[in-house]
Amino acid sequence: MKTLAPKKTAVKTYAMLVDGKLVQAEGGALRDITDPASGELLARVPESGRADAKKAVAAARRAFDSGPWRKTTAQDRGRLLFKVAEGIRARAKSLAELEVRNMGKPLAEAEYDAADAAACFEFYGGLATKVHGETMSVPANSMSFVLREPVGVCGQIIPWNYPLLMAAWKLAPALAAGCTVVLKPSELTPLTALELCPILLEAGFPDGVVNVVTGPGAGVGEELAESPLVDKVAFTGGTVTGRRIAQAATGNLKKVTLELGGKNPNIVFADADFEAAVDGALFAAFANQGEVCSAGSRLLVEKKVHKELVAAMLKKAPRIKLGHGLTPGVKMGPLVSSAHRDKVEGYIKVGKEEGAKLVLGGGRPKGAEFDKGWFVEPTIFDHVKPSMRVAREEIFGPVLSVIPFADEAEAVRLANDTEYGLAAGVWTTNVTKGVRVLRELRAGITWLNTYHPTFNEMPWGGYKQSGYGRELGLYGIQAYLETKQVNINLDEAPLGWY
Ligand code: NAD
Repeated sequence: MKTLAPKKTAVKTYAMLVDGKLVQAEGGALRDITDPASGELLARVPESGRADAKKAVAAARRAFDSGPWRKTTAQDRGRLLFKVAEGIRARAKSLAELEVRNMGKPLAEAEYDAADAAACFEFYGGLATKVHGETMSVPANSMSFVLREPVGVCGQIIPWNYPLLMAAWKLAPALAAGCTVVLKPSELTPLTALELCPILLEAGFPDGVVNVVTGPGAGVGEELAESPLVDKVAFTGGTVTGRRIAQAATGNLKKVTLELGGKNPNIVFADADFEAAVDGALFAAFANQGEVCSAGSRLLVEKKVHKELVAAMLKKAPRIKLGHGLTPGVKMGPLVSSAHRDKVEGYIKVGKEEGAKLVLGGGRPKGAEFDKGWFVEPTIFDHVKPSMRVAREEIFGPVLSVIPFADEAEAVRLANDTEYGLAAGVWTTNVTKGVRVLRELRAGITWLNTYHPTFNEMPWGGYKQSGYGRELGLYGIQAYLETKQVNINLDEAPLGWY
């Protein structure tokens, strides 16, 4: 019988976008990008350093200060963003598949992300023409109004958990506002951002307006945060890195927005719709392998239903099929990297040592299909004490900590007992109580009887150490605009002060 030799596909070498050209890093260094589910080599990407970041920043500076970009109208910028959205929609299938291969998430989630990324460009394409200032009632011999102007050159640094979507959240509002940008994707997951480069070129942005530079935080990221030529840095990532970036930005007092981590409470009251709460608790914790800043990683459960709810979750959890994100039916992929799996497994060990009760998972799934990937089973710790590290620190993986509570006041106290303040959920059929509790929660994104849905049209960001500033919605574009007061004298006579 004739056997077919395995199909050999050449490994693609990507280029990044600097000053309107697709280029390699200075010195030609490349980084291998592998599939976290299989270890397969997917692509090679430019491994830039400070020199490359400096070139991109200089190009963005030139494009802002002296290029044609400043003369574009809001309509022009809106049209460019619509073209980017069209480009993403036309390639949505391949972008989603590439996201799965690079990052590990299940295909259905990546398809959702690609559609949402296009919608984000559409939202800000439309919003570009709706930026208005105010006019003020002032004395009759003068006129005063407000102009909104782009902040300038923006360094944008994004993480690995939503690579394409985070690129859209950063680029779309900044470009709509008329800024120029240098985007740095995570060194682990640069592929979909690099696939955006030809889409951005096709759309027709003037040279230097939008630049994408790949490479590590040390060097490229640091340069964006430190450079005196950058007017604003927008960062999404861990709180420790966020703190460093805020410090680095003080050199020229650049504007900073930070979208950081979370240890988000998901509160289930005894009067919740039971089945909905079970589904909601699992989805909140395990979507995207739990690698979600807003994951409901602390499940606070009213004591009256605690045992029953945990039992129902354990019954349903085996339906979470693990595997390669492109395999039909898979609901949980691998973690993004070997180092990240080490970190998550480290926390599982800590949870056991601290005396939390491991009731689900805790190990690696068995079977040949998992051998070469960074898989961890969905894991639940029950009877977690609020002082334990697994209740306080962001694990950023499929590890859920269940904490029982006695009454509403205790639920609110436990929920707010964290240095973070990104997201929170509440489950109850008593809507009055639900809204009352939501108002008590110190978090920027909240849900009643649902978890995770969020909209490009609504603000995203955290209280406390989950960051500052807001992305998305009308708020998102504000972060890329300066506000100028304009006063006009309508009196032709001299002032006569002296
Ligand atoms: P990370 O902080 O390690 O890295 C994020 C980005 O910063 C990467 O591009 C990295 O290369 C870069 N970087 C690292 N050190 C840097 C430095 N000193 N200077 C400049 N840039 C530097 O985060 P991660 O591991 O990629 O992502 C996970 C974290 O992101 C989690 O804490 C998660 O909660 C957070 N996150 C937050 C949101 C949000 O909207 N709040 C969304 C997604 C992820």
